[in-house]
Amino acid sequence: MSQRIVIVGAGHAAGEFCAALMQDGFDGSITLFGDEPHLPYQRPPLSKAYLTGEMDRDRLFLRGADFYETHAIALKPNVSVTAINRGTKTVTTSDGSEEPYDTLVLMTGARVRHLSCPGADLGGVRYVRSIADADALGAALEPGQTMVVIGGGYIGLEVAASARKLGLAVSVVEMAPRLLARVASAEFSSDVHDLHTANGVSILCETGVAEITGNGDGQVTGVRLADKTVLDAHHVVVGIGVMANEEIATQAGLKTNNGILVDAAGRTSDPSIFAAGDVARFDHKLYGSIRLESVQNAVEQAKICADTIRGTTASYDPVPWFWSDQYDAKIQLAGLSAGYDRAVRRAGKRPGSGSIWLYREGALIAVEALSDAPAYMMGKRWLEEGQSPDPERIADTDIKIKDVV
Ligand code: NAP
Repeated sequence: MSQRIVIVGAGHAAGEFCAALMQDGFDGSITLFGDEPHLPYQRPPLSKAYLTGEMDRDRLFLRGADFYETHAIALKPNVSVTAINRGTKTVTTSDGSEEPYDTLVLMTGARVRHLSCPGADLGGVRYVRSIADADALGAALEPGQTMVVIGGGYIGLEVAASARKLGLAVSVVEMAPRLLARVASAEFSSDVHDLHTANGVSILCETGVAEITGNGDGQVTGVRLADKTVLDAHHVVVGIGVMANEEIATQAGLKTNNGILVDAAGRTSDPSIFAAGDVARFDHKLYGSIRLESVQNAVEQAKICADTIRGTTASYDPVPWFWSDQYDAKIQLAGLSAGYDRAVRRAGKRPGSGSIWLYREGALIAVEALSDAPAYMMGKRWLEEGQSPDPERIADTDIKIKDVV
């Protein structure tokens, strides 16, 4: 009997998984459950070009409906999986049906963390995770209005840059002492801080939010900070992180720990169940136990699962990478900065461009580039090869980057 694969979650990982599985032919059946009404789509433009209206909705979708039709992939939009029944090898869905599987693939992603202070439910307090979120925010923005962004991570900063482009006055409130604290070095945070202030954004770090203030119509009017300052706002956008959608896996007895635990082949603690993307946690030889919230991870880990399911030996050992477009700057990061003990700055060729090279006990662990693609490319390649360029030579811009090693 041919293999029945059920995928839970219709995000980036699921779209890439289907494509990878079909590439060399697959004669089993695939059923894809997603709790949104859409085909699998990419999220990065939602806070950037799609939000500013520079990108059409059609371009968000990874593949058109014809791809799924051609490959007889049964799409189940607006249906979520509520339980995994490992004994019977079935899943229970929100529409009350049971779907049998031989192989189950969990690509349930992550959901936004909600603000919990008073006023958090007022109209005009928004999050940006889905097409519906971006549509609602984009439709509401008008030049001359004010926006307070809560959270100085990627989402907050990308929305801030987009809102500036649309002519809004923007403040960013971040609880941590610096921007991008979870994902970048202090040196790089400082460069990104400068980028935003140069583009007219007011940045308040180490600042807590006490309350979102509203009017009698239940609409937001501003943000009261912990120090009692009030920032007026037509819009409040919250980007304070995401949480892995691991509950159905935990309830089914799979090993989870802020993410569904998987091995290098993408398998969970049940050999007939796989997981990939934002929800999956795995051991990395350089960075330890990690859960990556990135497109790179969704794409590559999904391919690993497809390879394993097809019977090819596959082992996931990525150099994580991330990118972000803010104003005219291109942010590109390879590797993870956590635990670095030395940061080396290398100036780029153009004003405002450059890279930060991060070392731990003498070994390169990450490179962070601001509008400096050559530095990023070389850094990523050296990380892939396990090479650590001499920090003194990195800092010396008389040496061409490609000649450093
Ligand atoms: P994030 O990267 O976790 O950043 C959220 C930031 O908000 C953190 O610095 C966090 O500080 C801070 N924060 C938490 N609670 C706060 C509060 N009450 N008041 C003020 N600040 C608060 O998450 P995100 O920016 O929301 O993005 C969501 C996910 O999408 C992440 O996985 C992100 O990597 C991904 N994403 C990636 C890209 C990209 O790669 N270009 C773009 C957009 C989104 P603490 O860390 O101290 O909690």
